Amino acid sequence: MSDVLVVAEHRRGELRDVSYELLTAGRELADSTGGNLHATIISGDVDEYGEDLNREGVDAVHTVDHGEEFNHGVCTQAVEQIANEIDAQYVLAGNTVNGMDFYPAVAERLDMPLVTDAIAFETGDGLSVIRELYSGKTEGTIDVDSETAFVSVRPGEWPAAEGTGDAAVEAFDADIDEEALNTTVNGYEEVGSGDVDISEADVLVSIGRGIEEEDNLPLVHDLADALGATVSASRPIVDNGWLGQERQVGQSGKKVTPDIYIAIGISGAVQHVAGMKGADTIITINNDPSAPIYDIADYGIVGDLFDVVPALTEEFGG
Ligand SMILES: Cc1cc2nc3c(=O)[nH]c(=O)nc-3n(C[C@H](O)[C@H](O)[C@H](O)COP(=O)(O)OP(=O)(O)OC[C@H]3O[C@@H](n4cnc5c(N)ncnc54)[C@H](O)[C@@H]3O)c2cc1C
Repeated sequence: MSDVLVVAEHRRGELRDVSYELLTAGRELADSTGGNLHATIISGDVDEYGEDLNREGVDAVHTVDHGEEFNHGVCTQAVEQIANEIDAQYVLAGNTVNGMDFYPAVAERLDMPLVTDAIAFETGDGLSVIRELYSGKTEGTIDVDSETAFVSVRPGEWPAAEGTGDAAVEAFDADIDEEALNTTVNGYEEVGSGDVDISEADVLVSIGRGIEEEDNLPLVHDLADALGATVSASRPIVDNGWLGQERQVGQSGKKVTPDIYIAIGISGAVQHVAGMKGADTIITINNDPSAPIYDIADYGIVGDLFDVVPALTEEFGG
C-alpha cells in the first residue's frame, strides 16, 4: 500500500483548475510513499477529461462513465471502489462544494481519517497536513496518526500539473448500485446572475462599503470592463443585495486566488482577508491609510475611490 488517488472534478463541461493542482499535490505524496499516482474522473465527457488529466507525473487515469453531472451517490461508490482496487494509501479531493459533498462519506467507508482544507504537506515519517485555523489567523500542523488518510486540498495552493504524461487512461468498470443512489441529477442550473465564478478569475475588482450606495456600482463595473476583470465584493455589498452571493469573497463567501486583486473601499477585516490573501498581487484603494488592508497590500492608493476609480478606468479603457 503506497499509491495515491486523486479525485478530479469538472463543471459545465470543463475540468476545474483544482483538478490539475490535485495532481501536483498527489505527486508530492506519491514521491514520499514511493507509490504511483492515480487520478480518477467521474461522469461527463470522461474520455476528454481523462486525456487532459494525463499530465507529467501521473501514472494512471481511471475514468468512470456514468451520467453527466456530479452525483453524490455515484461519486461516493466509484471513489470507494477505485481506492480499494488500487489499495490507495492516500486519497485526495478538492476542498470544494462537490468535494465536501462526497469526501466525508468516502473517508468513512474506507475507514480513513479525514483532514480537510490542506494548504501544504510535511512528509517523512508519515504525513502531516498544514491547514489554517481561526479564519486564517494562524496555521496548524495535523499529524496523521494512521498509515492511510483522505485529505481535501484547498484550491489555489499547489501549482497546476503541466505537460503530458504517459499514464494509461482506462475506463474503470464501477459497480454502481442504482438503488442506493437516492438522488437523480436532472441538470445544472447556475444560481444568481449567470456564470460568474470568481474563484477562477485572473483579475478581480472587489468593492466594499466605501462605495456607499448601489447607484455608484457602475463606477466599479466600468473599471472591471476596462481591465477585463471580474467584479467581486465584501460581505456588506452582498448583504445589501447589491451583488449576488456568488461574488462574495471571504470566510463565508468564496476563497479566491487571482493574479491581481484590487480591493476598493474595503477595510480588510479578517473575515474578508481569509478569502483573498492567496492573491498573487493585492492592490488597494482606500482613503484611510491606517485601514488593515494596507498590511497585506502589495500596492496601495490612499485616496478617494470616487476620484481614483474613474481615473484608472480612463487610463486603462482609453
Ligand atoms: C461570521 C462572520 C463571517 C463574515 N464573513 C465575511 C466574508 O465572507 N466576507 C467579508 O467581506 N466580510 C465578512 N464578514 C464581515 C466582516 O467582519 C466585515 O464587516 C466586512 O468585511 C467589512 O466590509 P468592508 O471592508 O466592505 O466595509 P468596512 O469595514 O466598512 O470598510 C469600508 C472601507 O472603505 C473605506 N472607504 C470609505 N469611503 C471611501 C472612499 N470614498 N474612498 C476610498 N475608501 C473609502 C474606509 O476607509 C473603509 O476602510 C463576516 C463577519 C462575520 C462575523
